[in-house]
Amino acid sequence: MTTAFTTQPTALGAMKVARRPTLSRMHAPTLQTIPAAVAANVGRMRSATDATIMAVVKADGYGLGAVTVARAAIDAGAEWLGITDVDDAAELRIAGIEAPILAWLNPSGVDVARAVADRVDIAVGSVDELRQLIADAATLPPGRVRVHLHMDTGMSRGGVPLGDWAELLRLARSAAERIAVVGVMGHLPCADAGDPAANAAAVLRMRQARDAVLRAGFGPLIVHLAATAGTLTDPAAHFDMVRVGAGLVGIDPSETVSLQGAARLTASVVHSSIVPAATAVGYGGAFVTERQSRLAVIGVGYADGIPRELLAGASVAIDGIRCPLVGRVSMDQIVVDTGDVLVPRGATAVIFGPEGGAVPSMQEWARWSGSIPHTIVTGIGARVERTIA
Ligand SMILES: *Cc1c(COP(=O)(O)O)cnc(C)c1O
Repeated sequence: MTTAFTTQPTALGAMKVARRPTLSRMHAPTLQTIPAAVAANVGRMRSATDATIMAVVKADGYGLGAVTVARAAIDAGAEWLGITDVDDAAELRIAGIEAPILAWLNPSGVDVARAVADRVDIAVGSVDELRQLIADAATLPPGRVRVHLHMDTGMSRGGVPLGDWAELLRLARSAAERIAVVGVMGHLPCADAGDPAANAAAVLRMRQARDAVLRAGFGPLIVHLAATAGTLTDPAAHFDMVRVGAGLVGIDPSETVSLQGAARLTASVVHSSIVPAATAVGYGGAFVTERQSRLAVIGVGYADGIPRELLAGASVAIDGIRCPLVGRVSMDQIVVDTGDVLVPRGATAVIFGPEGGAVPSMQEWARWSGSIPHTIVTGIGARVERTIA
């Protein structure tokens, strides 16, 4: 949206005053998902690997809507979907998505009946989990539960440690009537960096895991290890399938390629004012104006996911102008300095988006808050409206 500005004399001297934008209705804070960006990012992954692409849509598609992100990714060539909890499959199946799905964490335990009904493969990360799964599967009508064996490839955050592989495989073989071992997975300990040297040991461990599972008589297998960064930087880690999550929404943890941001967060200016020099702004008067300033209050705050701890430089874009945040972030609002322009109530502020220029990126918000862009996009609050571009 563009707004024209005119210079008008006012009681406080000549200044720029924005004409009311044509669309001056207030709008609720809105997080827009951009499926075309997801599709472009899948295309970028496709150019980096011949492996099958699994679109990871955990945490509600990194906050952008699991169904929306999954659909866009599948339309662009992803063939599998990855989730952390079997329960997350239901909405994908209800939406008519037929792609194979893998669930690998299942924090509240696996409802095997549900997994079978929703056609979800289960990754097991310990001997105990496999034992439980086999016991649960025995209560179902005849048929086999599809299982991926999750091997610890060096992260110690999940996966079966090397010392337990023999027992795991023995157990799996003994239950061949109830479970079908169809995949082997690992996770790169440096999954958040483009660092093939640091991943080499994990790649080797993955090959050992694959060979051990094949030797135990299972196969054919889908072997998968790499996430976004490994997909973009380390072909040795690709195996049969790559699991791409962050990359779908425009985050490259390896910071080696430029992906398209798939999210835009906007909110309205709810109030604007001209204040004299030496005016304290926000809680605790943490910011004091140095000069007469035009301020705009925007109706989003930390309850909507705006990080409260921010470095200098944090800004939003209003009508193509970068406006720095001043004072503390409140629960429901932030205040920005709009420079020479008094921005009218109802104007749209872009908190982040893919446009570039004045519009901050998720990556910039991550830098300003000492975090990673994942936390920005997954942290947007529940009361923020969701739309699809
Ligand atoms: C989240 C996750 C992924 C996706 O990682 P990104 O870096 O977001 O692409 C892949 N595999 C596992 C096991 C994960 O938990």
